[in-house]
Amino acid sequence: MSGRPEALFGLFSSLETLDGVGPKTAANFAGLGVHAPRDLLFTLPINVLDRQRRESIEGLEYPAITTVTVTIGAHRPPRTKGAAYRITVSDAETSFQLVFFHARGDYWARALPEGSRRVVSGKLERFDGLPQMVHPDYIVPESEIDAIPSFEPVYPLTSGITQKVMFKASQSVLKLVPEMAEWIDPGQMRKAEWPNVVQALALAHRPQSSADIAITAAARERLAYDEMLAHQLTLALARLTERQKKGHATRGDGVLQQRLITSLPYPLTGAQLRAVSDVNTNMGEAVRMNRLLQGDVGSGKTLVAFLALLRAVEGGGQGVLMAPTEILARQHLQSLKPLAEKVGVRLEILTGRDTGKERNKKLDDLANGDIGVLVGTHAVFQKGVTFDDLRLAVIDEQHRFGVQQRLALGQKGAAVDVLVMTATPIPRSLALAQFGDMDVSILDEKPPGRMPIKTALVSVERMDEVVSRLRAVVEEGRQCYWVCPLVEESEVVDLTAAEERYKHLRAAFGEGVVGLVHGQMPASEKDAAMARFEAGETKLLVATTVIEVGVNVPNATIMVIERAEFFGLAQLHQLRGRVGRGEAASTCLLMYQPPLSKSGQHRLEVLRQTEDGFVIAETDLKMRGAGDVIGTAQSGLPRFWIADLERQAGLMAIAQSDARKLLAEDPGLSSPRGQAARMLLWLLRKDESIRLISVG
Ligand code: ADP
Ligand code: MG
Repeated sequence: MSGRPEALFGLFSSLETLDGVGPKTAANFAGLGVHAPRDLLFTLPINVLDRQRRESIEGLEYPAITTVTVTIGAHRPPRTKGAAYRITVSDAETSFQLVFFHARGDYWARALPEGSRRVVSGKLERFDGLPQMVHPDYIVPESEIDAIPSFEPVYPLTSGITQKVMFKASQSVLKLVPEMAEWIDPGQMRKAEWPNVVQALALAHRPQSSADIAITAAARERLAYDEMLAHQLTLALARLTERQKKGHATRGDGVLQQRLITSLPYPLTGAQLRAVSDVNTNMGEAVRMNRLLQGDVGSGKTLVAFLALLRAVEGGGQGVLMAPTEILARQHLQSLKPLAEKVGVRLEILTGRDTGKERNKKLDDLANGDIGVLVGTHAVFQKGVTFDDLRLAVIDEQHRFGVQQRLALGQKGAAVDVLVMTATPIPRSLALAQFGDMDVSILDEKPPGRMPIKTALVSVERMDEVVSRLRAVVEEGRQCYWVCPLVEESEVVDLTAAEERYKHLRAAFGEGVVGLVHGQMPASEKDAAMARFEAGETKLLVATTVIEVGVNVPNATIMVIERAEFFGLAQLHQLRGRVGRGEAASTCLLMYQPPLSKSGQHRLEVLRQTEDGFVIAETDLKMRGAGDVIGTAQSGLPRFWIADLERQAGLMAIAQSDARKLLAEDPGLSSPRGQAARMLLWLLRKDESIRLISVG
C-alpha cells in the first residue's frame, strides 16, 4: 500500500463536497484546523442540546432549550422603532411569547398567521416575570418536525462557521466513512466494550445526552484511543527503525563500575541500581540504546550517567557526556574528575573555549583513545572532533537540547548508544506521548538523609526582613542565591532587574560579598563569578535563571526567588532544587507582589506543600494543559483532537504497549490487523510514519 487507500478518498477530498459547504465556508473552516472532511470527523461536539418535543412549557424549569408545539395567537408589532415584535402563542396548557427584533414590515404576520400551528424550539427564558422565547432556533410546521434534531450537538465554532453549518457538514461527513477492519487489539475491544470505529464516529456526532459528551463515553474513549494508538504506532515505528540500525554490543566486565561503587561513601539507591542495570542490559545488546533517564533534581542521575560511561570504557570504547551550558559542563568535570581518578579512567573537558595547542592535544588523545570519557558542550560534536571508538553519548538536561538535536546525535558515532537525562519530571502521560519511542528509567527514590527544604511565601513588601535574614545566614558562614524576576521574555529587561538588585544588595552587604551572573555575560566572566561563589568567596549570588539547572553548591542554604509569580511551576521547582544539597536545613523564599492572582496563589501554594517533582509536574499539567507544559511546537507532539493527555494517561500506556506488541509481531504491518493499522495511520494523517514501515 504505497498511497492513501481508495476507501479514504472521500474523507480527504475537498470540503466543498459536504452538504452546505461552498468555497467561502470551506476557507472559513481553516479557523478550526479543518482542511478536509476527515478533520471534521475528529472535531467532536462539545455539548448537546435536548430538543425533544414536549406538550407544554408548564412545570418546566427554565431558562432552558425548549421544543413545543404551539398555536399562533395575537401579534403585537413594535410601537416604537427598535422595540420588539411580539407574538403570543399557546401550547397544550399555557401561553408565552415569541419575540423578534428588527422585524421587517408584515413579514411575521405572513409567516406566522394567527391560528396556525408550529413547532418552535429555542431558549425559553423569563422576562418581567413572563416566559418568552427570543428568536427561536427553529420554527417549523408540524409536518416538518424532523428538521429539528431531538438531540442537537453543539460544535466548537470559528468565525464564519455557524452551528447549523457544522451540524450539516458533520452529518454529511459521516456518510463518507467507509467500513474499516478493526485495528484495536480484540482483547482490548472486549475489555473496554468499545463500538467499532464507524459506530463510534456516528455516536460521537449524534450524542443523545450529556453522558455521551463525557470523556468517558465509550465512543469518545475509543476515538481518543485511536488517536493515541496512531501516535504510539508512529513512535514505535521510529523506535523500530532506530533499533534496526546496528549497534555495538558493549559488554563490560563490571570492574570499573564495581570499583566506583565500592569507593562511594554511600550505597546506590534501588532506583539507581535498576537504572544502571537497564543501561547495562541495553548496552550489551547489538541494537542501539535510546533511553531516557528521568529523575527529580538531586535524585542522583549524574552518578548513573557516570556508571554508564564507565561501562563504555569497560567495553573497550569511549563515552561522552554533553551538557547544555559551559557552567554545567565544568560542574560535571568537577564532580566526575575525582571519581574518574579513583577508578583510573582519563576524563577531559572540551568546550567552545578550548583553542590552539591544548585543543589539538585533546583532539589527538580523543582520536587515539587515550581519553576514556569526554565531558563538554555542543562542542564535542563539532567537525574535527573524532573519537577512537565512541560507544555512549549521555545528554544532560534534555529540555535545553530539543528533539532535533536528540535525533541529530545518532548520526555521530556509527552505532552510539544514547542516554538522555532530564531533571524535569514529566507526568507519565506526557512522557509516554513525548518519549514513547524511548525506553525510560525513572529515579523515583531520592538518596536518603536529605533535609527537607522549607518553602515560604513572602510579599515583596517585606524585602528588608528578607535582607536581614540573609545577613544572619551569611554570618553563620552559609551562602544564598537570589534569583531575579523574569519580567519579560527579554534578556535586556531581566538584566536591568538583576543589575538593580545586585547594586542594592551590594550596598547592603558590602563589596566582595555579592556576586552576579546572567546570560549576557561573557562566558569567562560567568565562570569566574560561579567559581567565586563555589569557592565561598562570594556569599550571595544574584542571578537570572542561568543557574536553573544543575548548579551544585552544597553550602548554599537559601534560595530567594523574586517575583516568583512570574515563573512556571517546573522552573520554580528546578530553582529550589539548587538548595538542600548539603547537611544543613535549607529554605526557599518565594517573593511575590501582592495581590496574587488565584492561579498564582495556587501555584505557589503547591510549591509550599510539596517537594515531589512529579506531583508538581502533574499539577502544572492540570493547570496549564499539555501544550503549554512541554511547548508542543518544540516537543514534536502532534495535536490531539480528542485524546486528553491529562485525564487519559492510562489509555496512553495501553496504546504504547499495544503498538509495540503489534510491531514486534508484525513489523511490516502486513497481517490483517497490521493492514487495518495502516488504515488507521492514513485516517489519522500519519503519512510520515507509513514511510517508516519496513518493507518485506
Ligand atoms: P541530579 O543530577 O539527579 O540532580 P546529582 O547526581 O547531582 O542529582 O546528585 C545529587 C547529590 O546526591 C550529589 O552530591 C551526589 O553525590 C549525591 N548522591 C548521588 N547518589 C547518591 C546516593 N545513592 N546516596 C547518597 N547520595 C547520593
Ligand atoms: Mg544534575
